[in-house]
Amino acid sequence: MGVQNAAALSAMKTNPKFIFFTDFDGTITLQDSNDYMTDNLGYGRERRRQLNIDCLEDKINFRDSFRDMMESVKNPYNECIQTLVDNIKLDPYFAGFFQWALANNIPVVVLSSGMEPVIKALLHALVGPDADKMEVLGNFVKARPGKSINEEGGWEIEFRHPESGFGHDKSVCLREYSSLPEDIRPTMFYAGDGVSDLSAARETDLLFAKKGHDLISYCARENVPFTVFEDWSTILEKCKEIVEGKCTVKDAAREGWEAYKAGAAGVKPENGAAAKPAAK
Ligand SMILES: [Mg+2]
Repeated sequence: MGVQNAAALSAMKTNPKFIFFTDFDGTITLQDSNDYMTDNLGYGRERRRQLNIDCLEDKINFRDSFRDMMESVKNPYNECIQTLVDNIKLDPYFAGFFQWALANNIPVVVLSSGMEPVIKALLHALVGPDADKMEVLGNFVKARPGKSINEEGGWEIEFRHPESGFGHDKSVCLREYSSLPEDIRPTMFYAGDGVSDLSAARETDLLFAKKGHDLISYCARENVPFTVFEDWSTILEKCKEIVEGKCTVKDAAREGWEAYKAGAAGVKPENGAAAKPAAK
């Protein structure tokens, strides 16, 4: 890929100095909406958990495990969305972070392995009409032949990157921004919690990894700069410090590392992890 043309990238329209990319399920939401759908409308928790484990152990890729789960859900699509809007809770501090980001010209881009219509409906329910100012990139839904998505057994998932084992390879979008010329390339943040974020972890300047999740061990092992967050109030606090020049991305990554080494990141520090804090 050559040098990217900034005009072609929607989050570059306002010439931001910072962009915040984020995962959706388990990061903005408190529960995973796809797990909820599979557990409550599809074949249930037991088989879903087994597929999660198989995925972590590389026995099946994320795309195929996710398709398998979604195919067990036969409810009309509008009914699925309503069930999720009624049951999925979002991090209570996310809306405040988002308003701050809007006021400070920091575009928020959601990169998700879930389906766009679900994510948009949930965001709308929480942050109201301003949710339309957030770019959402995820997978899609399509009607099965001869059916409409809002009838029983009428829909199926359509992957953004069907050729990728991730279904949606988050690094593709991130590279469009990270390959911008140095003088206009914004500082890139990313927040995530799990397996679907591994393809994104290496591509940004600072990764906010959710406390107590496997993503932290992965970052420590792979020397990816990260800091730990518990909820979006932590993210807001740290971003404010960085934007106001009170803290650098490197400082934040060092703090994340120290928290991890001291056992304060909610995961057990591994002996094999790199000996130094990650820095870019
Ligand atoms: Mg997640």
